[in-house]
Amino acid sequence: MSIEIQHVTKIFGDFAALKDVSLTVPAGELVALLGPSGSGKTTLLRIIAGLEVPDQGTVLFDSQDATARSARDRRVGFVFQHYALFRHMTVFENVAFGLRVKPRHERPAAAEIATRVRELLTLVQLERLAERYPSQLSGGQRQRVALARALAVQPKILLLDEPFGALDAKVRQELRRWLRRLHDEIGITSVFVTHDQDEALEVADRVVILHEGCVEQEGSPEQVYEHPATPFVYRFLGNVNLFHGRVEGSQVHLGEFSMEAPAGMGQAATPAVAYARPHLLDIDHQPPSGRPHFQATIAHINAAGAVVKIELTTGSGAIVNVEMPHERYRHLKLRKGIHVFVSVKDMKLFTQAHSTLGGGI
Ligand code: ADP
Ligand code: MG
Repeated sequence: MSIEIQHVTKIFGDFAALKDVSLTVPAGELVALLGPSGSGKTTLLRIIAGLEVPDQGTVLFDSQDATARSARDRRVGFVFQHYALFRHMTVFENVAFGLRVKPRHERPAAAEIATRVRELLTLVQLERLAERYPSQLSGGQRQRVALARALAVQPKILLLDEPFGALDAKVRQELRRWLRRLHDEIGITSVFVTHDQDEALEVADRVVILHEGCVEQEGSPEQVYEHPATPFVYRFLGNVNLFHGRVEGSQVHLGEFSMEAPAGMGQAATPAVAYARPHLLDIDHQPPSGRPHFQATIAHINAAGAVVKIELTTGSGAIVNVEMPHERYRHLKLRKGIHVFVSVKDMKLFTQAHSTLGGGI
């Protein structure tokens, strides 16, 4: 089932938690709502679920207006950050609960309930723990029970609000891959809320980035990462080096260095900020020709990891971070304290907060 949100606004008192939000979740996709705390993610999820009523705007399920439909009639499964399992019930009973409380004419027979619960426990890989109580499970296992319970009533849509937020980093990583596989298996339209950009980029088919109640950008993980539409998205999706300066004529002056302004920047002198991810900067012993570059001193090297992370200090005291493959690092024989040239392979120029006038160089 597809979901369409059209011009949704939600106001609490005099505070607008969502401002004219529109987005589409195609049937069968796994979409991540990504944004910092307070950006409106939970509010939007609750509006989709029917637990909150928008002040303006419409929610469509499969092109049908569902705005006035009750939460019960929307056939939505919900998993929260804090697993709300029934403590006095076994894993089996927790998953069976939604089926047992159905009105008599909709309720499956006991044997059918048992079969379906067993299937779901197999799906979430907990078939051996059916008779345990929630207190006898790990955090990750409890969240899998919560997911099986949400799926038991065969919802049309699955909504997950920071489902792994309370778990430690390693378990989170395992569970997000597991969720992706599970989604591929059952193909239910799912909206997954997270404030963790790695989680969103790894798990989702599409990412919607929320900021202060507005959709800042939406697209595939590659699109939003490679082509951030705004400075906020660039900063939010990963480590970044910032260079402040101004556009003057055909040149951009960025303190440490200057370069040609991308086409379409206009002639007026305008304050500008350039953004470059650490892997888009490179280091050389000689000034590289054909690339904007500046001098810097190596302040710190961290070679423990998939890439080598190098921190440098510029002449004006600014800190610059560069990441490079181990092979290149060994080739360059870099050491703390030496003077080098930092060059820019690619960067993105913004001339005002929230507007993109220039593309990458
Ligand atoms: P997120 O899930 O992205 O952290 P929320 O959707 O929970 O953000 O909240 C967005 C903003 O709306 C926050 O500033 C929050 O304080 C406010 N808010 C959310 N729910 C209520 C409510 N019931 N009453 C008043 N303010 C609320
Ligand atoms: Mg929230």
